[in-house]
Amino acid sequence: MEKSEEMKSKSQIARTPPPDVRLELRREVGFGCPLCGNPHLEYHHFDPPWRINKHHSAEGMIALCARHHNEADSGAFTNEQLRNLKKNNHTRVQSKFNWRRKHTVFACGGNYAYDCTAMLTARGIDMIYFEKDDDGYDTLSLKIYDTCLNPIAVMRKNDWICRNNVDEIEATPRTPKLIIKSKIHRIDFELFFKDRGNMNETEIKVLDDFNIPEYEEALLVKVRGKLPAPCSAIFSDDRLIVDGRLFFSGNKFISSNKAIVLG
Ligand SMILES: [Zn+2]
Repeated sequence: MEKSEEMKSKSQIARTPPPDVRLELRREVGFGCPLCGNPHLEYHHFDPPWRINKHHSAEGMIALCARHHNEADSGAFTNEQLRNLKKNNHTRVQSKFNWRRKHTVFACGGNYAYDCTAMLTARGIDMIYFEKDDDGYDTLSLKIYDTCLNPIAVMRKNDWICRNNVDEIEATPRTPKLIIKSKIHRIDFELFFKDRGNMNETEIKVLDDFNIPEYEEALLVKVRGKLPAPCSAIFSDDRLIVDGRLFFSGNKFISSNKAIVLG
């Protein structure tokens, strides 16, 4: 499945570099945008620019967040500035990763899941799941589609594979949120990240129920908003409405294959 996804993304976006180049570029910037620390990265071709020569040579590329990639595309930075950003020691940036944690609990319409292969599955598509990186931290994978099941926003292990017709993507390290909005596709979706200090009593109790030790850092990732596909879903803090009907709530899933399954 991974391989076919990779091929699919290549045919859809030829600009996406191969996995080894992506990894090299991510390592180089300490796995966060060198300008703001955002761990959700894209790849900017600057020397030469993509429009001049279609290449995947790491020396002429840099990993940046979506916002700074847009700025770089419009010429905000000189090649020398970008080269300096590649050379910097980016360990400082890593400390800004508010949501890099070893334990991640997923919250969706009053249901909670921990240590499951897929957190949210709809009509057979795993839409949200977490995978460990080499340091044992959870990374985010995400698939958002339109009603014809064309990919609109796809992230694999904190890596943007695809963004199509998205009006707004906001992800900042300081206000830990990932917002994806597209008017034409009726997508208004938000992932909200909370660490222990910001969790309410119910959420702390969920960590206890999942036997996550109090001395270990944990993160709650909560879904809000609405998605049109693969089924129409509305997510609020304590309710989940699927195809116009109230769906289950109050469930807890631990160490299972698929957690919340819709449709
Ligand atoms: Zn940035």
